[in-house]
Amino acid sequence: MSDATLKTPIAGLHHVTAISGPAQENLNFYTEALKTRLIKQTVNFDAPEMYHLYYGAADARPGSVMTFFNREEGAQGQAGEGAALAFAYAAPPDTLADWQAALGGTISTRFGAQVLSLRDPHGQAFEIVADPSDGAWGEFHSVTLWLADPGPTAAILTDIFGYSYQGEERGDGGLRQRYALPGDAPGRVIDLWQSELPVKARPGAGTIHHIAFRAGDEGHQAALREALIARGQEVTEVKDRQYFKAIYFREPGGVLFEIATDGPGFATDEPLAALGQSLQLPPQHEPRRAELKKALPPLVVV
Ligand code: ZN
Repeated sequence: MSDATLKTPIAGLHHVTAISGPAQENLNFYTEALKTRLIKQTVNFDAPEMYHLYYGAADARPGSVMTFFNREEGAQGQAGEGAALAFAYAAPPDTLADWQAALGGTISTRFGAQVLSLRDPHGQAFEIVADPSDGAWGEFHSVTLWLADPGPTAAILTDIFGYSYQGEERGDGGLRQRYALPGDAPGRVIDLWQSELPVKARPGAGTIHHIAFRAGDEGHQAALREALIARGQEVTEVKDRQYFKAIYFREPGGVLFEIATDGPGFATDEPLAALGQSLQLPPQHEPRRAELKKALPPLVVV
């Protein structure tokens, strides 16, 4: 592991990607009920007959980007060991009651803060956490990973990514350990959850596919890649995801981790004011636009 990596910790979450049911239902919930902004309407670059919809804060800042591979049909997934269980938005403490009135859910206290626990229309667990810092709506507070053994995952977070242990709480049939990054970047908290009941994760609608961490730039990403490989992790080559450069690896607990760069950002193929209004395709899929538009269900963007 290089000292350079340790001196530059991960800057928090970049995005979280989950699998949803039908795209229109997903769009309606995340924009109308949850009031995040549709910031990109594109396709799954690896399976372009499927929408990939991105939601975030109004300015599409990294750390606020929740994305979905939208499956029109397909089996429901199952949360369990080896996958991320839930993502959480940060919200001013005095707004939690309003969110509960609008969306339902239950409020509990976790590490001294109120947490509203909810599910989206396709069964994805998510939370709204009372947080006094004044970030934009749509910024992440944290993600929770469900792990059979949190130890090896925690070691990657602390030794390579720069997280530190914050404490643990027992309850809800398991043990929750909290790790956080220094500073106040959105999504700087990760909870590692160990259930007393062993349940294996099964991918499908309503489950998180991967979580992506922020590297400031490609140099930082390369240093992290080197440190992970030195640690014995198998890491992909750098992939061009149009809005960021990405590398992927499956961490020891089984969760797919991505490290994404801040640049070039979501305004690279359409102006910031028009984000999400029309279908954007990367150069490799642009020649198939007419065919893909026919295969994809029509989407009404309000
Ligand atoms: Zn991703």
